[in-house]
Amino acid sequence: MNWETVIGLEIHAQLATKSKIFSGASTAFGAAPNTQACAVDLGLPGVLPVLNRGAVLMAIKFAAAIDAELGRRSVFARKNYFYPDLPKGYQISQFELPIVGRGRVELLLENGDTRTIGVTRAHLEEDAGKSLHQDFHGMTGVDLNRAGTPLLEIVSEPDMRSAREAVAYARKIHQIVQYIGICDGNMQEGSFRVDANVSVRRPGEELGTRTELKNINSFRFLERAINFEVERQIELLESGGRVVQETRLYDADRDETRSMRTKEEANDYRYFPDPDLLPVELDDALIAEATADMPELPDARRQRFCDQYGLGAADAQQLTASRALADYYEQLVAVCGEAKMAANWIVGELSGALNREGLAIEQSPVDAGALGGLLQRVVDNTISGKIAKQVFEAMWQGEGTADAIIEARGLKQITDSGAIERIVDQVLADNPEQVANYRAADEKKRAKMIGFFVGQVMKASKGKANPQQVNQLLRGKL
Ligand code: ADP
Ligand code: MG
Repeated sequence: MNWETVIGLEIHAQLATKSKIFSGASTAFGAAPNTQACAVDLGLPGVLPVLNRGAVLMAIKFAAAIDAELGRRSVFARKNYFYPDLPKGYQISQFELPIVGRGRVELLLENGDTRTIGVTRAHLEEDAGKSLHQDFHGMTGVDLNRAGTPLLEIVSEPDMRSAREAVAYARKIHQIVQYIGICDGNMQEGSFRVDANVSVRRPGEELGTRTELKNINSFRFLERAINFEVERQIELLESGGRVVQETRLYDADRDETRSMRTKEEANDYRYFPDPDLLPVELDDALIAEATADMPELPDARRQRFCDQYGLGAADAQQLTASRALADYYEQLVAVCGEAKMAANWIVGELSGALNREGLAIEQSPVDAGALGGLLQRVVDNTISGKIAKQVFEAMWQGEGTADAIIEARGLKQITDSGAIERIVDQVLADNPEQVANYRAADEKKRAKMIGFFVGQVMKASKGKANPQQVNQLLRGKL
């Protein structure tokens, strides 16, 4: 009998505002502990929170991007719990009336199928501080720099049916928030964190009891954590046990999930509307302002890349993975004029080099203008595609522009037909047996055999002979 996996994700995206959600303190990452927490973030008495307008605009943008209903009137609520990194004793969040209501995202799966995943809601809230357990000799340090950082918590419907789908959905949300510029998506720094709710059931039955896997900060861990948890639940159920609703922590080093707290130990948050903050009412002008500079969204851009540049679905998907990559591609096409060639170079050489060194496209030592300059020299036959790869490596090492490297290394293609002819004659003279075989063969075999001669000529010319001319001369002479 089969089991069906059911997954719903809660994603925390840190909003890219300069200051915190209810105070003017900076949100910059990496400052010395407790230097960026002001009286409001510290929860000192006698201070009042003031809502950051920028965070509201970003939430509206997100609603537009996932085609969601907007909460025209939303309310901030206090979620009460005590933790050392939350000195106020409550987190300001939204509960009954969130700013973003029901929406949806489309997933394009690896096999080409599409799936629609429902978004239940997304709400604004503040982040808590951080407890530091190292370097304090049996005590715990508290860094409140992160306290009050704006978050958008995006809650999905339990619509995903495998770890892979969950990863595809999380990646999609990650892509969208970065495209619309509301989150930097940096998972190492905790700007994008995922909680996975996981249950299993027999197909057609009611939803099973779920467990929640907290604070997963990489897509690889997300997939592994869910797969571990699904297997754990199935084994438990098949051996006659029951899944208890609980929060579990994924331990990447051991590749397992462990219980953190059960439902009985869970906090009773006693939500109530925050009396310090007015309800947020969105008027048309604010909505228009928020959505005025909406960029082209990933799905639309992917489709346009297929239509406008004649790319296949897989290339278009890869080239629109991030806005920076898609921008790079379009700049490259503008410079070199060859859409397909530009795509091949990015998917091939450039991505290979970036992956090799663990760099993002924004950090590429070869920018789109420079790579375009190289591809121009392929287009105008100054160098062959093969030599271009050699030039690219030199550009990557910082040796200069394509033209400078071609000049300095003497890589210009030989197009002087007299020079090529001399090499061709030499190759034919050196290989009488192959020449005789070629002449005795039929057209079909010849088409294959010509490659040998082309190879010899290219080798003799150190790759610099123009391949078209070599082919033409060889065919004539043979
Ligand atoms: P809570 O308020 O306790 O966090 P919610 O009902 O809001 O619970 O659900 C939180 C997340 O858990 C949502 O993403 C939802 O889709 C998911 N979820 C709810 N029930 C299940 C279930 N049985 N299996 C898997 N995911 C679930
Ligand atoms: Mg929850």
